Formats: sequence, structure tokens, C-alpha cells
Amino acid sequence: MKKTTGFDRSKTKNWHPATQAVRGGTWRSEHGETSEALFLTSGYTYDSAEEVAARFAGEAPGMTYSRLQNPTVAMLEERIALMEGAEACRAQATGMAAMTTALLCQLSAGDHIVAAKAAFGSCRWLIDSLCPRFAIETTVVDGRDNDAWEKAIKSNTKVFFFETPANPTMDIVDLKFVCELARAHGITTVVDNAFATSALQRPLDFGADVVAYSATKLMDGQGRVLAGAVCGTATFIDDVLLPFQRNTGPNLSPFNAWVVLKGLETLDLRARRQSENALAVGKFVESRVPKILHPGLSSHPQHNLAMSQMEACGPIFSFILEDRAQAMAMLNALELVDISNNIGDAVSLCCHPASTTHYGVSAEARADMGVVEGMLRINIGLEDPRDVIADLDQALTKVGL
Ligand SMILES: *Cc1c(COP(=O)(O)O)cnc(C)c1O
Repeated sequence: MKKTTGFDRSKTKNWHPATQAVRGGTWRSEHGETSEALFLTSGYTYDSAEEVAARFAGEAPGMTYSRLQNPTVAMLEERIALMEGAEACRAQATGMAAMTTALLCQLSAGDHIVAAKAAFGSCRWLIDSLCPRFAIETTVVDGRDNDAWEKAIKSNTKVFFFETPANPTMDIVDLKFVCELARAHGITTVVDNAFATSALQRPLDFGADVVAYSATKLMDGQGRVLAGAVCGTATFIDDVLLPFQRNTGPNLSPFNAWVVLKGLETLDLRARRQSENALAVGKFVESRVPKILHPGLSSHPQHNLAMSQMEACGPIFSFILEDRAQAMAMLNALELVDISNNIGDAVSLCCHPASTTHYGVSAEARADMGVVEGMLRINIGLEDPRDVIADLDQALTKVGL
């Protein structure tokens, strides 16, 4: 058996991302299996009482309990870290478990967090509802406005938190500016990179400290499992995040980790093809609707910034119809594209954010971030884009556009 690199970075770190995506972190058992093994086990057994004591004391290598370590989950974590260019990664059960862990592991009562106002509904809930309950001060800013980030800094500011592109307004945050600003003030940036993934955008290359994921989206990419991940320095992951994760238990199941491992093998192919398809479909939609928010189109006010930090536009964009009634009618008229609030999937999916992903956000916050009643968000999959365009064409015609 050979080429089982496991966690030997001296072998894996110079591989190109495509190689890391299919081989990074592979840790073969004594059977020499080609596909990563699924260790569906909660616990481990030991040859002696002294051995388990040594493992718990950190004096001997080896696993002790799957809330603390699991070989399949560890393979996924190593693969994501390599692809992200991060020293370390830990996986969580969902994207929201990842966001909650990434924030609460480092914040205490009296600290201050600045977050971009345009965000996934549950991410906004963490800022608007959860943090204040634990006396963590919060400020939301327009993430597109570099000055706003600077003005929001206080002596107790510990974290900047944002998505780019943001769900579902497609606002872009200037990664280099905001990450450098944070670093100059000793503030930790936490970037939710779900819309791009490491295939299209690597925030650490622009100076971000922590990258957090819903791996449910493009990483799995086939609408199968929920998963999350947080990447950062070894010091952050081992000393700050791990004590929180091990004792609160937001862990990813080995089965779901195994599914995402297989998803990562095709991430680059899918992300690029879905971006191409989203560009083709976006150009068509732009010709028919009053307003489109698509980072790959020159009509997006931050198109140049987006394309300077992303390799391609990603599979998701939003467009705005007259009102909720027209948006709902458009969804109901779709024949190929499914009505679904998931994204990153290989099938095209469309939803009405105001009544679904952002239903739990207050009406004022929704209006403030630009999630208007006529907005639809679409994920473009791997279908032939001509079929998706034909479906949107007939649906737009039915609603009078
Ligand atoms: C979906 C999503 C999340 C939450 O992920 P789950 O896996 O559904 O918990 C967080 N952030 C963004 C940007 C998302 O799109």
C-alpha cells in the first residue's frame, strides 16, 4: 500500500488544489482501500488501561471518542484545510453549527462584533438575537462600504463577520481592505465563504483569519447532507475552537463527512461549470427583468471587485420582480427548475428569500439589507443552460415579462 499521505504536510502541501481535492488527507487503513473508509463508530477500544490513560493525557497518539476524533472526519478536515490553504480545520454538523462555533468560541460578554448587514437569515439571527443575550455587543454595517467597517471599530471590537458574496443580495466585501483593516486593529475576521468555496475564492490569501463554511452547499454539491467547517491557524483551531467544540459537541457525523469527502473530489469541476452556466442564464435573465444582482455581470456595481477576488462568479444570483405576487407566480410557473431554498446543488433551484431563508429576519432588517418582496434567488445547476433558459423564458412570459 502506498501514497497514503494522511496528515503529512511535507508531502501534500505543495500539491496543486486539484490534486489535494482528490488525494489530500487520504489515510488508508491496513486494507489499502482506494476510496476513503467510513469509520462509523462512536468509540474506540484499547489494548491496555495504561494506553487509554496515555491517550487522554495527550501523551500517546490515537483516537478516544468520536466527539473528540474520528478518522473519516479527520480526513475531511485535512482535505478542506489543504484546499483552503489553512493550517487546520474542524468540521461541524451544519453550516450554522460552524458559524456559531466560530463566533462563540472566541467571544465573551463585553466583546464587540461588527457584521455585514447582508447575510443569510440565521447568520443575522446570531448577530441580532443570540450575541446580545450573552452581552456581546453588535454593530451591523453595509459590508460594501469600507469606511463603515473602519468607523464601527471600538476598543472592545474582537471580530468582523461577513459573507462575500452575501446571501441573497450578492453584496461583495472588499476582502483585502477589510481583512487588513481588521489585522491592524487586532480584530479577527470570520469569513463565511459558502457562496464561493476554495475553488473560486480563498479568503486566507487576502488576509482573512478564519474561514467558515456551510459544506451543505457547493462542497457536498448534490443536495445530500448537512455539514459545516471552520478553517484557521493551528493556534486558533487547537487553542480557541477545539476546547469549545469538544465540550459543546457540534460535531459532524462520520457518514456525512464521508459524503462531503466524495463531493470535494468534483468541487472544482462543478463550481466552474455551474459558474459558466450561471453566467449564461444570468445574461438571459438580465434581458427580461427590471433588476438583477449577479457578480459575474458588468451591471453588478461591484463586478470588478468581485472578479478581482473570485476566479469565477459562482452558481447563485438574484433578480427582482415587481412584487411578492409576481415573484410567487414566477416560482409557480417553473417546470424544470425546482422551488427550493437550498443552493450549491447540481440541480437548478429557485426561491423567494423574504418568505423562506430570510423569513426569520425582522421586516426592518430585511428592508435594510435589500431583501425586497419581489426578490428571487436562483442556484444554477449542471443542467444544459439552454434548458434552464427555456424554462425561465416560459415562466417569465407567463408572469408578463
Ligand atoms: C446555508 C448557509 C448557511 C447555513 O448552513 P447550513 O448548512 O444550512 O446550516 C450559512 N451561511 C450561508 C451563506 C449559507 O448560504
